[in-house]
Amino acid sequence: MVRADFPIFGEMINGQPLVYLDNAATTQKPNAVIDAIANYYRHDNANVHRGVHTLSDRATRHFEDARERVSSFLNSPSSRQIIWTRGTTEAINLVAYSWGVNNLKAGDRILVSWLEHHSDIVPWQLAAERVGAEVVPIPVTSNAEIDLNALDGLLDERVKLVAVNHVSNAIGTVNPVEEICAKARAVGALSLVDGAQAVGHWDVDVQALGCDFYCFSGHKLFAPTGVGVLWGREDLLEAMPPFLGGGEMIETVSFEGTSFNTLPFKFEAGTPNIAGAVGLGAAIDYLSLIDRSAAAAHESALLAATLEAASEIPGVHRIGAPKQSAGIFSFVMEGCHPSDVGMLLDEQGIAVRTGHHCTQPLMSHFELPGTVRASFSMYNTLDDVDKLIAGLKKAQSLFG
Ligand code: PLP
Repeated sequence: MVRADFPIFGEMINGQPLVYLDNAATTQKPNAVIDAIANYYRHDNANVHRGVHTLSDRATRHFEDARERVSSFLNSPSSRQIIWTRGTTEAINLVAYSWGVNNLKAGDRILVSWLEHHSDIVPWQLAAERVGAEVVPIPVTSNAEIDLNALDGLLDERVKLVAVNHVSNAIGTVNPVEEICAKARAVGALSLVDGAQAVGHWDVDVQALGCDFYCFSGHKLFAPTGVGVLWGREDLLEAMPPFLGGGEMIETVSFEGTSFNTLPFKFEAGTPNIAGAVGLGAAIDYLSLIDRSAAAAHESALLAATLEAASEIPGVHRIGAPKQSAGIFSFVMEGCHPSDVGMLLDEQGIAVRTGHHCTQPLMSHFELPGTVRASFSMYNTLDDVDKLIAGLKKAQSLFG
């Protein structure tokens, strides 16, 4: 039972055993990850790449091994295509600035869906503003699915990039990214997939998806915060200029002119989050021992049980009804503000997220100030579902 691998579940919250349903915000960490980070600091800590001493060599080996693990996890043709970042946000900014500002021009368009997290909207707006390009939203249906017909209507030669999330963090919608990437390709546009919410549920194959860029954050994959990944097509990454300047990303520096390091180091200025990368490598190793399809089926069963039980609570309304949802129940309760629901659940030891979930355009589309979001992971149980439902009934008896 994977739950036993996660020490946080020993915590009592407000006198109750923790019911953690905020996995879309961040996942909990197994002992394997916590131990790998502690062992790295206890036994191997040194700066990477530059040292001639044994410890630096050991740190470099652990750091680069982690990159290899990410490379296999994504089925990347090469580990040169794995760029360490602080997370999804930094990865998207890297592409928006390095590729966007240098390749977009006035009149060009970037399509992003209404489902996007702010981190897949704002970097494009900033890049577009610099060059006079335009960020155009792809409509969503009332089920909170990307409207593929509307996408077809928007795709023309002005579109240079289509950026969509693999899974919506606000609703849970699993987007048909393979199809969307193919549509983008058909008009000569690039595609970027924000995989922040997907990697916690299944292994990703960037080659099968046919995307040009894929990003994710370690902390949504049972790994630490502050480390993430940009994967990119090698020819694109080769042609892109550096994003940040500093140590590590250079070949030679002189006042006459500086030349840059090869991939992936060209994009990795400064001392990286070495322990974070080690933790992410350990998370991928840990997951390789788990039947992820069974885990995903378990999460779907938990969501189905939640939806069925919640549908019997009058005044509780699910937002969006995507055909495929990655373990997220986003809802509102009549007569009770989402943050009040969240606080009442917290009193019972139940952690959920409330608010706009960094998707303000989507919330205004549904004319909502926010929702309550319960998000499941592989270590959640039917008992967690029962406690959530009991908590909601209690909240409703107080406010309803
Ligand atoms: N994209 C999606 C879909 C997310 O859910 C998140 C985080 O919630 C992000 C991007 C941003 O991730 P990070 O804050 O780790 O950079």
